[in-house]
Amino acid sequence: MPRPFRSWRPPFCPNRDCDSHGAPGTWRWKRKGFYERLRGPRRVQRYVCRSCHRNFSSQTFSTSYWLKRPGLLAPLFHRLVGCSALRQIAREFGLAPSSVQRQSERLGRHCLLVLEELRPEGAPREPLVLDGFRTFEHSQYWPFDLNLLVGISHYVYGFNDAELRRSGTLRPAQRTKRAALEAAHGRPPPQATRRAVEELVGRVVPPGGSVEIESDEHLAYPQAFARLADRRIRHRATSSRKARTPRNPLFPANLADLLLRHASANHKRETIAFSKRRQGALYRAALWAVWRNAMKSRSENRRDAPPAVALGLLPRPLRAKDLLAERRFPWRQALGPWLERCYFARIPTRRLARCRSHTLRYAV
Ligand SMILES: [Zn+2]
Repeated sequence: MPRPFRSWRPPFCPNRDCDSHGAPGTWRWKRKGFYERLRGPRRVQRYVCRSCHRNFSSQTFSTSYWLKRPGLLAPLFHRLVGCSALRQIAREFGLAPSSVQRQSERLGRHCLLVLEELRPEGAPREPLVLDGFRTFEHSQYWPFDLNLLVGISHYVYGFNDAELRRSGTLRPAQRTKRAALEAAHGRPPPQATRRAVEELVGRVVPPGGSVEIESDEHLAYPQAFARLADRRIRHRATSSRKARTPRNPLFPANLADLLLRHASANHKRETIAFSKRRQGALYRAALWAVWRNAMKSRSENRRDAPPAVALGLLPRPLRAKDLLAERRFPWRQALGPWLERCYFARIPTRRLARCRSHTLRYAV
């Protein structure tokens, strides 16, 4: 945790364009006074980089930079993975719902980077289960799949989104409305699932890697795997009609779906807290995945270690204060195109004209 104590040293230059951002090596900086603020820490040490002459402070390295209510991130995290809706949280803390939304987006960005940092390098050493968690954005006319890649240890290796066309039995009036909406906003591309699965598996399994994947009988999955010719993918499909018991080969994904619905207010059935934008659902999925991987026991009854500890990726379960101890910077990790779009909130919602994309001022 960055503290304004003399013992704390800035680890690298926060300016992404400075040579000392990625590889600090012989980085030189000097202290440049303090500034006072109303919230703790009240006295914040300022610094200047001797390479690029940019100013920064110990707060630049804190997850609570620029926040008027810095203590809210941890309780907000717990409530977001504890199935509270944004407005319920806003009422509890006496905040505007937009403040809760902004802070939850910040948590989402942070968790996306933490997930990538935690994910083991190289191909996963355990069999994986691929599944599309069906949900929707804005209204039920805009469904999408949250594609999940889960290990048999229940570790969530990654997720992404694939837009879908509303299907199922539709009344004539619903069919007319769907046609009008598609005429106005376009129709989701039919290849979306194939493309998304290709991106997700390509991200988790590096070229040359080999992996075993269980999935349901979705026709797009084998097409996606065929395009990843430089990976060895052994694929086995199981009917999704098979009883969803622990013996089902898809059990890790079925359990992940259950937990995702149980822990996230936006995925409850018949809720008014549904995601208005796909981007919001993705940020919230990042929180859920960090909680699932690094905080929650695999079994509530046994109170055993979370998947990341069982796989040896972490020495002990993360607590919210560990998770929020240090700010992550997107340019210090090699993010693929989908992760970069997701981090900067560029995943569009077809029904709404504008993305509320995230721009980082200065280096940070
Ligand atoms: Zn610099």
